[in-house]
Amino acid sequence: MHPITIIGTGLAGYTVARELRKLDPNCPLRLITADEGHFYSKPMLSNAFSQHKTPEMLITTPVEQMAEQLQAEILTHTLVTQLEPQWHRLKINEKSLTYSQLVLACGAKPIVTPCTGTVTEKILFVNSLSEYRYLRTALQKAKHVTIIGAGLIGCEFANDLQEGGFSVTIISNATYPLNRLVPTSVGQLLQQVLQERGVTWLLGKTVKHIAPIASARYQLTLVDNQTVATDIVISAIGLRPQVKLATAAGLTVKEGIVVNRYLQTNMPDVYALGDCAQIEGLVLLYVMPLMNAARALAKTLVGQTTAVTYPAMPIVVKTPACPIVISPPPKTVDGQWHIETQGQDIRGLFYITNTQQLAGFVLTGKMITEKMTWLKQLPPLLKAHCH
Ligand SMILES: Cc1cc2nc3c(=O)[nH]c(=O)nc-3n(C[C@H](O)[C@H](O)[C@H](O)COP(=O)(O)OP(=O)(O)OC[C@H]3O[C@@H](n4cnc5c(N)ncnc54)[C@H](O)[C@@H]3O)c2cc1C
Repeated sequence: MHPITIIGTGLAGYTVARELRKLDPNCPLRLITADEGHFYSKPMLSNAFSQHKTPEMLITTPVEQMAEQLQAEILTHTLVTQLEPQWHRLKINEKSLTYSQLVLACGAKPIVTPCTGTVTEKILFVNSLSEYRYLRTALQKAKHVTIIGAGLIGCEFANDLQEGGFSVTIISNATYPLNRLVPTSVGQLLQQVLQERGVTWLLGKTVKHIAPIASARYQLTLVDNQTVATDIVISAIGLRPQVKLATAAGLTVKEGIVVNRYLQTNMPDVYALGDCAQIEGLVLLYVMPLMNAARALAKTLVGQTTAVTYPAMPIVVKTPACPIVISPPPKTVDGQWHIETQGQDIRGLFYITNTQQLAGFVLTGKMITEKMTWLKQLPPLLKAHCH
């Protein structure tokens, strides 16, 4: 019998493998990953430095132990180069492997900052354990770090590296941080708190060019010709689902690999979840959605076809200087924020236009204790529906 095969050993790949093993301890199982395959919690990457955590300390279960626990074959440092869904086969260069069912858990890759210059390849991304290792090495000789992007990851790194003793500048074309998720007042509060701690914000600005200068430093030139000299540039302008393999194999791909509520792609026995997948139009690059998807998919893989459901899923922003919890309203919902502010404690409630129906919330400071109260009032993001 050919193995159920999972491409990817991130949180999505390993969670579906674990859930599968709870239901079927014996079916042949293979995982394939381009990286080292150790189990770690990726969200830790953006608050590990100030806690003096080395990459090794972030590994909760080494790959050998994962293979034993899961009773699975794990191929590490192995890039799948082609899918042949019509033959139930995948390729690793010239070598072919046959699967019974295939799960794509290929993650997302960082969007490259569009700017010119001969040193653009020196821009760092931190989306894997090995990239975190590389960042830590680069930081050994650095004093000043520039972060491009003021979304969740950019702000978390700014807080962490400032706390870790670096001088930090954030550049973003947005006019306030977390602008895609929170109302202006919350973004401005985060901006003010980090600024008071020494973070420099260059908002509403775009990087045009990066050039090397003396002593292994860089000079960034912005579109308005302002310049910033720095030791390290981290790009955190967003992530895009990894869809290359799927696209080449003829799977339906929009922003992510398109799957239905059963996590099925348009090809028989091929499924997708995690950062690479688009489920009923939703591309959610967070941990909670992939956990829900993994539980449903494991059942489907053992023959108990199960639709994924999403409850409302709050996001805890890892900026300890300014604690924030967000349950962002769905993009398709039309409504308004109602904000109450008491110093640094903000409660933002997003109501659907002309209704009393809550569709999202944001809480800062002491208001965070209200999380469960508001969460209970939110409708599920993907409701259960009949098979
Ligand atoms: C710095 C940072 C902080 C974050 N903080 C939070 C947070 O606080 N809360 C939250 O909910 N989410 C957070 N996230 C998002 C969350 O970590 C991701 O949604 C989640 O880890 C994605 O898991 P994944 O398994 O889908 O993808 P990944 O972890 O990216 O795994 C992809 C896997 O696919 C493999 N792969 C890809 N292509 C191939 C190929 N062709 N052949 C073989 N292997 C391949 C890779 O090697 C890897 O093993 C954060 C993300 C980052 C980067």
